[in-house]
Amino acid sequence: MESKYLNKKQIVALNRYGDILIPGMDSLPSFSQSKAQLEVDRIFEFMTDEDRDGMLFLLSAFYYLPSFVLLILFKTIFMLTSVSGICRLLAVGLKGVIFTLYYSDVDKDNKVFKVLNYNPKINAPKFESEVKLDMKTVMNNAKASFEAVSKLSVDERIKFIVKLKAIVLENKEEIILAIQKETNKSKSDIIMSEIFSVLDHLDFLIKTAKKNLSDRTVKTPIALMGKKSLVSFDALGVSLIISPWNYPFFQAIVPITLAFVCGNSVIYKPSEFTPLRGLIEKVLAQAGFNPFWVQVVYGDGKLGEELIDLKPAKIFFTGSVGTGKKIMQQAGKYLIPVELELGGKDPMVVFDDVDLLRAAKGAVWGAFTNLGQACTSVERVYVQEKIYEEFKAIVVAETKLVLQAIDSDGSSDVGHMITTAQRDKVINLLKDAKSKGAKFLTGDNFENYKDKMNLPLVVLENTNNQMLLEEEEIFGPLLPLYKFKTEEEAIELCNDSDFGLSASVWSNDNNRAIRVAKKIQTGNVSINNVMLTEGNSFLPFGGVKNSGIGRFRGEFGYYAFTNIKSIIIDKNSKKIEANWYPYTKEKYQIFSKMVDALFTDGVFAFVKFLINGLKLEMYCGKTKKRE
Ligand code: NAD
Repeated sequence: MESKYLNKKQIVALNRYGDILIPGMDSLPSFSQSKAQLEVDRIFEFMTDEDRDGMLFLLSAFYYLPSFVLLILFKTIFMLTSVSGICRLLAVGLKGVIFTLYYSDVDKDNKVFKVLNYNPKINAPKFESEVKLDMKTVMNNAKASFEAVSKLSVDERIKFIVKLKAIVLENKEEIILAIQKETNKSKSDIIMSEIFSVLDHLDFLIKTAKKNLSDRTVKTPIALMGKKSLVSFDALGVSLIISPWNYPFFQAIVPITLAFVCGNSVIYKPSEFTPLRGLIEKVLAQAGFNPFWVQVVYGDGKLGEELIDLKPAKIFFTGSVGTGKKIMQQAGKYLIPVELELGGKDPMVVFDDVDLLRAAKGAVWGAFTNLGQACTSVERVYVQEKIYEEFKAIVVAETKLVLQAIDSDGSSDVGHMITTAQRDKVINLLKDAKSKGAKFLTGDNFENYKDKMNLPLVVLENTNNQMLLEEEEIFGPLLPLYKFKTEEEAIELCNDSDFGLSASVWSNDNNRAIRVAKKIQTGNVSINNVMLTEGNSFLPFGGVKNSGIGRFRGEFGYYAFTNIKSIIIDKNSKKIEANWYPYTKEKYQIFSKMVDALFTDGVFAFVKFLINGLKLEMYCGKTKKRE
């Protein structure tokens, strides 16, 4: 190797000192093997004259020192960094130079000159996790940390949840701004659906995890007299959580903490559109989570596929129906249990005995919250004939009052669309509906927004089943109105969909509302309110039909991330069980009498069962061998 600045001795010293600092590890070569020295002149070029002279002097001195002395010297300097400022500066300086040289050639895209010529306008910042992370390593880390997490008692895990709750509360404004930056939402949408909901969920875990995850004694029937039965809730292993882009903080923290409190380690993959890069790691770290307990990986669907092939113990997926089907198919290869939280096309049924203003305001909020980009937003409003016109007029008037802006003070009602792809999809659905005769009551000018993100709020009527929006999930600011005559017709209309996530029924007659709620094929129903089941952390959440499989949140949420294990305890004794071999004619006859007695009602039958039970015991005590 030739150098403009270093003589041969200094090069030898650099290799020796580099190899002591960077001896190589796993797939990373040692300093001398990395050929980082080839960049040496470039580094020296960028040094000030004093630094360069100092460095050359040190290298000359290092040449004359044996390696073991260098090793002791560095170890001492690095050990003393916390006590001495000079040692710290020395360590940072020495490590800085050698590390820059080292990494300059390991990753071709990260050459030193690129870093030095860095222009933020041209080069997007490269984050550590973007440097190609090896998913096998991530999975191995997760498997190794599962041991540690599952060994923590539930009480110990809850302590981290308590800290996390405090961190979220303390930093809520910072978190809201980070979410808003990536999602274009209104601040009020964020505080309600991402901050309040997360805190409420954490509170729920703190209050209920211990009770729900403790062993439960269950009844042991008389036929198994003398034994004790238990159910335990054991951790599953590595939980892979894959989330969409519409509630990036909520959809991260809620499943992560639920999986963790159950004793699982977690790999979390956010949507590539709203990764909230670094935020989840930061709040978890502040709450004291070890970074390997919950690892966040960034990338698109391909990364998700790669992780599934590494066989996590559980997949918790929230997203579209199409992706859900793909994931289930892939998971099927390995029989990995999956939880699918998919799309919705939620109906709202308004009977003619309701308070019109409340119901209309509910419809407007339910359809447009998060600018309609919510899986449980209202996508079909069925209004009873008699009140249709009046209801429609209020809905239109209320929609026109909705304030749309990306605000800084919480005063805006809705923000903008989150992704351009979703905006384009909604515009296409609207165009299609318009061309097929839908009547636009608001937002007729939607086509002017094809290059903008602030899609207007659209209220529609006169739609028909030729239109795409009748079948597909809308996931945008669109509220279609429909008329119905009878209760039966309303139920039929609600159920005429491939989706079944959530619904709402509005009526002054509670019995009717509950009757209808029970007949709608869906996972959740709010009565005289909208999207409210999600507001109660004690209620389970999930869908039927194309809206998904499984339930999470509430008591049932714990079951999603645990192995529900049955345990039966018998005594260690000399007793040979009556149902073990040998089987004999006599035994069979006693068994037969016992079965008759056990499944016949009445005291007499019970006494008969006991007598035969006793007979069987005595018989078995004698019959230890086949005669
Ligand atoms: P999406 O299905 O496109 O993506 C969701 C996540 O899956 C992303 O992280 C994506 O990178 C990942 N992914 C994509 N292909 C994958 C593959 N083959 N293997 C593994 N991972 C893969 O969904 P989206 O557009 O981000 O989100 C919108 C959808 O989410 C809507 O349908 C909405 O209704 C649904 N959603 C459902 C709920 C619920 O709780 N039911 C909540 C919010 C959103």
